[in-house]
Amino acid sequence: MTESLAQSLTCIDCGATHALGYRLACEKCSGLLELRYDLGRLARTGPTVLSGTGLWRYAAVLPIADPAHRVSLGEGGTPLLDCPRLARELGVRTLLIKYDGPNPTGTVKDRSSATGVGAALQFGYRATSVVSSGNAGSSIAAYSARAGLRSLIFAYERASAPKLLHMAATTSDLVIYQGVYDDLIGHWDRLADAGLFFDCGASRNAYKHEGKKTIAYEIAEQTSWSPPDVVVAPVAVGETFIATARGFREMREAGWIPRVPTMVAAQAARANAIVRAFRAGTSITPLKIGYTVAEGLAAGDPGRKGDWVLRLLREQAGLAGEAEDDEIVAAQRRLARTEGIWGGPTGVATLAVLERLLRDRALDPDQTICVVVSETGLKTEAEPPSRAGVAFDEASLRTLVEERLGR
Ligand SMILES: [Zn+2]
Repeated sequence: MTESLAQSLTCIDCGATHALGYRLACEKCSGLLELRYDLGRLARTGPTVLSGTGLWRYAAVLPIADPAHRVSLGEGGTPLLDCPRLARELGVRTLLIKYDGPNPTGTVKDRSSATGVGAALQFGYRATSVVSSGNAGSSIAAYSARAGLRSLIFAYERASAPKLLHMAATTSDLVIYQGVYDDLIGHWDRLADAGLFFDCGASRNAYKHEGKKTIAYEIAEQTSWSPPDVVVAPVAVGETFIATARGFREMREAGWIPRVPTMVAAQAARANAIVRAFRAGTSITPLKIGYTVAEGLAAGDPGRKGDWVLRLLREQAGLAGEAEDDEIVAAQRRLARTEGIWGGPTGVATLAVLERLLRDRALDPDQTICVVVSETGLKTEAEPPSRAGVAFDEASLRTLVEERLGR
């Protein structure tokens, strides 16, 4: 089993270094913490330090020390799909989709659930909790069940039926709350601070956050350590975006890859606090938001992680973009028809954002562009097509088939 090379928790604001432990904020300035690793060792070993398959192949750059705490349902190792037909439609030279729908609960969240619930075991907690629009809830619930822990899942009242069913099936305690994520998260954070449960939210826990870094490691490995020019990642509060960006940076610093991709932060237009601030060159003003079809992106107040996303975008010459709900639904259909990939609206918002950035000529299409599609479409609630059937005899069936296939 691979050793974890995690060394410390470092404050992203004041740079103070803390010993590894369960801490949600810097003791000196209350800033957010990020995990730091022995990059010298990574530089010396190169990718030979990796072993096995799936997410825990990257255990060296994850913060779970004891292999017994590395909870797994078979997450990670998702495909990086070259999409030539879609690339032609969009006028892009090379388009890659990092499709995270095949994860055990159908979403990228399984990466952070594996390390989040693993950390709950590592620090001796008996119960986890999360406030969720659906995907995080079912994922944390499933991983908690797998680890033998209780999970207290607070679910958005407008969560899709398939997501609600999945949460109800896997959690020990499901609570439906009124309103949106922003309405509950402040109260919930204080209960997490009091240690009533292990924080499996997206806002502060560096251990949970860390699992998503494996997206970057997988993309790099799947491109033979020559990563794409651009990576488009979804942003609600910013966990996936920040973790992916740092994964690439670690590999660059360890000399595994020659350069880091340009990171694009993708938001739903109905929850676009970071995009607005990026464009205006200001700090983030929290938004009061309503429903967006991209449920998982429905955060109007991304909090301090939102500030972190903005800082990364500015320091590293990134880009931010948004897409309207109808554009997201159109992108969902287009991806299914052209490449056979059925992502959910939360997952394909990135593709809709890419389409808009290309239309606006904000991105050079003559590059290799990778889009993270973060969830399966199988948990999407939508009107099915008409069920009105037709009775056939053999002759009418043959006529229909010949007509449809143009014979
Ligand atoms: Zn600090």
